[in-house]
Amino acid sequence: MKKIGLIGGMSWESTLMYYELINKKVKAMLGGLHSSNCVLESVDFSEIAELQAEENWKALDALMISRAKSLQNSGAELLVICANTMHLCVDAIEQHTSIPVVHIAKVTADEIKEARLDKVALLGTKFTMEKDFFKNILINAGIDVIVPEEEDRDLIHDIIYNELVRGEVQPASKKTYLRIIEALKGQGAQGVILGCTEIPLLIGQEDTDLPLFNTTKIHAEKAVERALEG
Ligand code: GLU
Repeated sequence: MKKIGLIGGMSWESTLMYYELINKKVKAMLGGLHSSNCVLESVDFSEIAELQAEENWKALDALMISRAKSLQNSGAELLVICANTMHLCVDAIEQHTSIPVVHIAKVTADEIKEARLDKVALLGTKFTMEKDFFKNILINAGIDVIVPEEEDRDLIHDIIYNELVRGEVQPASKKTYLRIIEALKGQGAQGVILGCTEIPLLIGQEDTDLPLFNTTKIHAEKAVERALEG
């Protein structure tokens, strides 16, 4: 079993889910008393969120490179960045380290292709919904992707930063997300990507008849499959 290196704490609410999902998947695949071989670099999210708000991607690249290097020095053989947004730093990380990155958008695109859908909606932070780093991977895989209107993107983003990363789950916010999902369905979305690793705290498959792509779960499980390959 390869050693998985996790960069977590973005936020720790979702890193908890990663740790549980990774160990459950190892148990499902290997049985017995098996558990994951992993190492975690956990950041202070306050610092990250501040730099994100300033759009200081240079500083964020440097921070992520240093955490990835430290995982490499700890013997990590696969890199898992436990957030969608921070995949904005993947190019920089890849230039400075040699650990293969399990890319959250790539494994999600594979899952959507497997489900044979060709048009999906993407929910996440404004960075994830508005920049190209996630959408382009889907488009290159032949998947059409739509995002909510600007006003709704603001609502989704604010609920992530003001509630979900703080572990708060509000019924009114759930209603808001479900209203937005319905609107996206009306625009032809055949499925919805929960493209922020905390959204599964708020929304689950039981809440809607549209197939949901939970990036936290997909990413954690694919990382284990990769760790156990060959
Ligand atoms: N965990 C979130 C994500 O998946 C948001 C927190 C962050 O901005 O890193 O994008």
